[in-house]
Amino acid sequence: MKYVFGIDVGGTSVKIGFLNQTGSLIESWNIPTDLRHQGGNILSDTAASILKFLEMKSLKDDDILGFGFGLPGPIVDNIAIKCVNLGWENVDVKEEFCRAYGKAVEVKAGNDATVAAAGEYWQQNIEGDIIFITLGTGVGGGIIAHGKVIDGAHGAGGEIGHIRVEFVEPQLCTCGLEGCLETEISIRGINARARKIMREKKLKTTLIDDETLSPKRIFTAAKENDPVGLAVLDKTGYYLGLACANLAATTDPRAILIGGGISNAGQILIDATKKHYIKYAFSSLRNMQFELATLGNDAGMYGAAYLIIQGLQA
Ligand SMILES: [Zn+2]
Repeated sequence: MKYVFGIDVGGTSVKIGFLNQTGSLIESWNIPTDLRHQGGNILSDTAASILKFLEMKSLKDDDILGFGFGLPGPIVDNIAIKCVNLGWENVDVKEEFCRAYGKAVEVKAGNDATVAAAGEYWQQNIEGDIIFITLGTGVGGGIIAHGKVIDGAHGAGGEIGHIRVEFVEPQLCTCGLEGCLETEISIRGINARARKIMREKKLKTTLIDDETLSPKRIFTAAKENDPVGLAVLDKTGYYLGLACANLAATTDPRAILIGGGISNAGQILIDATKKHYIKYAFSSLRNMQFELATLGNDAGMYGAAYLIIQGLQA
């Protein structure tokens, strides 16, 4: 049996997973992300932590297939173009990791949301292609086609959050465009919609417009038939359903997976999405399978490991 490392680099911690080649997680741990010196210590800290682990386990280089990285930004050919949260610009992940590791080893890097898609795909054993959308502070995603992560020519494959879905009252997105999916159904977008409805419609609601307002509260209220909760849920389903219908026509996936913190709303979110999806989807795509993601915060770690595995399948 051979092994692989899946490394999910975030702004506060680096999650390191040690998996076997069939995808079983053997051990995982976190190290803090050192943001000093433009994140210049992150890869050497990671290498040092892994070397210590391998020595402790008496594992040899031949036992390790490679090191996959999920990173918060666009990646082209293992180069992190820009990771704002890490302070990185044009970091050659392979070169820098190998230098710190002290050997030329197999390294593959991908965008964290794209990599999370790969993790879900690998672990859920879905037969065929998927589209994965993650809903949280931002909205991201990943597309798997023919068992491969679509990272694209510009490192922006699966940038699902920046598909335009609002044309009448578009709001400015952090990316500089207007009316992006992310502006409408990220945590901020969902909270903003609830506030707007509360302000304008004077509906009877259990929701309170203060700092405790959250998608979790809003969708819990929806489950209890709260009119504001239901209105926000329906509009969220509309934007997500519309985006999914357009996406489905590109690769005709076997399933669309919804993940990220907001997906904890569960089946009501899937149902609201499907209701609108059906209206916009091409006829032969209407019977699409929608699933909730299952790996939560571990998806990136699994997916990073899969970057190495998928290379072996080529
Ligand atoms: Zn955008």
